[in-house]
Amino acid sequence: MGHEPRVWDFQQGSESMRNLLGGKGANLAEMTRLLGGSLIPPGFTITTEACVEYLREGNSMPDGLADEIDAALSRLESGPGRTFGDPSGPLLLSVRSGGRVSMPGMMDTVLNLGLNDASVHGLAQLSGNERFAWDCYRRLVQMFANVVRGVPGELLEAEIDSVKATTGLALDSELDITALKALVDRFKHLCEGAPGGAFPQDPREQLAQSIEAVFASWTGARAIEYRRINHIPDDWGTAVNIQQMVFGNLGEMSGSGVAFSRDEVTGAPEPSGDFLANAQGEDVVSGVRNTRPLSELAAWLPHAHFELMSSLRALEEHFGDMQDVEFTIENGRLYLLQTRTAKRPAQASIRFASNAVDEGLLTQAQALMTLVPSQLDALLHPQLSRPITPDEILTRGVAASPGAAAGEIVFSAHAAVAASAEGRDVILVRRHTEADDIAGFHAARGILTSTGGKASHAALVARGMGRPCVCGAAGLEVDAEARELRVSATGAVLHEGEMITLDGTAGIVTTAQIPLSEPELSLQFERILGWADEVRSLGVRANADTPEDAKRARRLGAEGIGLCRTEHMFMAADRQPLMRAVILAGDMDERHAALEDLLPLQQSDFAGLFEEMRGLPITIRLLDPPLHEFLRDPSQLELELAGSGDLSGDRADALRQELDRTIALQEANPMLGTRGVRLGLLHPEIYETQVRAICRAALSVSSQGELPHFEIMIPLVAYEDELRLSREAATAIGLEEGLRAGSDFRIGTMIELPRACVTADLIAKDADFFSFGTNDLTQTTLGFSRDDVEGTILDRYLELKVLDRSPFETLDVPGVGALITMAAERGRSTNPSLTLGICGEHGGDPESITFFHDAGLDYVSCSPFRVPVARVAAAQAALADGRH
Ligand code: PEP
Ligand code: MG
Repeated sequence: MGHEPRVWDFQQGSESMRNLLGGKGANLAEMTRLLGGSLIPPGFTITTEACVEYLREGNSMPDGLADEIDAALSRLESGPGRTFGDPSGPLLLSVRSGGRVSMPGMMDTVLNLGLNDASVHGLAQLSGNERFAWDCYRRLVQMFANVVRGVPGELLEAEIDSVKATTGLALDSELDITALKALVDRFKHLCEGAPGGAFPQDPREQLAQSIEAVFASWTGARAIEYRRINHIPDDWGTAVNIQQMVFGNLGEMSGSGVAFSRDEVTGAPEPSGDFLANAQGEDVVSGVRNTRPLSELAAWLPHAHFELMSSLRALEEHFGDMQDVEFTIENGRLYLLQTRTAKRPAQASIRFASNAVDEGLLTQAQALMTLVPSQLDALLHPQLSRPITPDEILTRGVAASPGAAAGEIVFSAHAAVAASAEGRDVILVRRHTEADDIAGFHAARGILTSTGGKASHAALVARGMGRPCVCGAAGLEVDAEARELRVSATGAVLHEGEMITLDGTAGIVTTAQIPLSEPELSLQFERILGWADEVRSLGVRANADTPEDAKRARRLGAEGIGLCRTEHMFMAADRQPLMRAVILAGDMDERHAALEDLLPLQQSDFAGLFEEMRGLPITIRLLDPPLHEFLRDPSQLELELAGSGDLSGDRADALRQELDRTIALQEANPMLGTRGVRLGLLHPEIYETQVRAICRAALSVSSQGELPHFEIMIPLVAYEDELRLSREAATAIGLEEGLRAGSDFRIGTMIELPRACVTADLIAKDADFFSFGTNDLTQTTLGFSRDDVEGTILDRYLELKVLDRSPFETLDVPGVGALITMAAERGRSTNPSLTLGICGEHGGDPESITFFHDAGLDYVSCSPFRVPVARVAAAQAALADGRH
């Protein structure tokens, strides 16, 4: 054939072919090999590369692909001995998407392909169930209309609702043959009016068009949005899985469901899940009908239940991770349609990792690798500060994704996005959610739905994103049009904008305003963090400016403070007038006097920090921001002056002087202005006072001669002489206070300018340590203003794919990273004992942490809540490079 096959039978593939076959295809192949063919309906996978080719060729089928599909289809037909679309007893097929990583609900599926006006009768005869045959046909035409012809889902649902209304029925499963036939006609009619035209009667045409639609769904708006949020490359493409249909809607001995090898919300070591009798899989996932818990399956169909339980165990052991399995029971017989790693909330990930080691399923290292560090953040999200009392309960639902959230009610993804852009906390309330709601999940604090179970779209996506979620709250009626939430039991009505609180751990909704509180680390999480600490080589410190921050950081495992920004010590309300007096002082005497007043206050601030961090290193950065940031807004001063008729002459003079000085300190580019070490050299008395306060604080808390391990850090150094002069000045003050630089305390610099990276060998001669300030280093390397880029350039750059994420969130490795590597090498070349750390925001970002590990830094420093995330990410980086 001259090229790699683009179509693979399930028996031919394996788990290792994920990139080519997609996650679903690779796992179907692996599952077929592991469990044998009888549990898995046969089928084949069209590769992701075929999709990429299709898209590259302007959405047209690559040459020869149709022949490969035909050949695979013939092999498939030879198994059951039935022919695709045969009018007298057809073989029916499903067509499903499946990218390299799962993108739940983002792309398309068409079921029951092969039915047409003739074969629907054949299926009725073959199954002995005419209603079933028409239900399948109705589903096919409905999905085809939606996925292939692009008819909006609501329009199709509206047709079903109108048929139900005329027949007085409540559930889809109650629709009778006449109703189903009517629906087939209506859906066909909708196809005719759509681009692409009539529903094709030729099964091969149905198949070809469905495959194309799945290929094309890779570039659909919601798939693009999902990839953007989850940083999935656009050029991967999706595979297409074509599988023989089995039927969960064949009557009362049939059903469909989703099963997890362990509880998917808590991680408890018992399988869990949902199913629906007499239904196809999409009924479970769409959340349109309320499902039954898996435990009820044992009583209903014990044999199928037993087989399902043993398959779950075998799959979990084989894949070494929690599994999420889609199953169908056809006339009492179990089939597995998919297995994948279970997306689970952070609590469940932790519990699984801990239990898996105890059970001998995984080693500690393997267990650590099952964690998704960025997700662990959710464990450090707020909880309710007290339980909801019985009379506060508005309603109960399914506890679908843990944690607590409070916010204003909104009824659409659009409203959620708009409100969160204004900085408001919102809860997205929907009857059930759809793939189009994805942006709303991102924007909302929590999700509430009135239908659907733990496997519904809302639950899956909320857990994936770490958003608390209560779903299937059947006591609520969601009227998105009227923007009302009605409580059936009491008749109460809540409107958009009213406050609501969710407890996703308990599945409770309340309107009571219960404060949210800080979470504690669970024992299991502590245990796993202990394993992480054993393997990681990168230290983890925290950025903390106050004793409270320091305490929290220490509780979460920080091994020191990597950055104390001292500016807040000048900005606190009681310090502002003093700091203003320093800046506005008419002469040096006045300035010194004002600094004298500040000194004891600062000293007590530092003493507080030292007390909290006893025994651990604390890096204190001398003042960084430009002075005008401590002054009042000139326009406000002008206003005050304009109305100064009533003021005494002295007061008016003082105001005028303040205004003049404020204007004099304004700079066109303050971020590139008189800040950092420049400030220290222009106004040495400020740094002197700070160093004196630090030394005195250290001496005041030292017990039995044990001084706190403090480090003085000079910001924004570009020239080696800037550091040399600052070091000399700080050393002199230290000596005046009786402390020696280099032994009693250390002096180092932030590296946050490209010149400092390039001349690191020169700068390192006067530095005991470097701490990379990657916020400023990113800003000055890229020339992007860190304060403005998000609102101005970033969105468009993401759209244009110039960037795939903000460089202020995840380090720009080729640019900024290269500078860091250069600075580390050059710095150590002249000063081998130089300590290297990083204290920009990237210090808490798992991907950037991998880079810092590889670059050989000594520690990262991040915000206190990110400390556990950083510990796990650092451990994974060490495990991945095998050097631990
Ligand atoms: C930095 O620039 O990375 C840094 C930590 O300093 P700041 O954010 O205070 O400028
Ligand atoms: Mg900085």
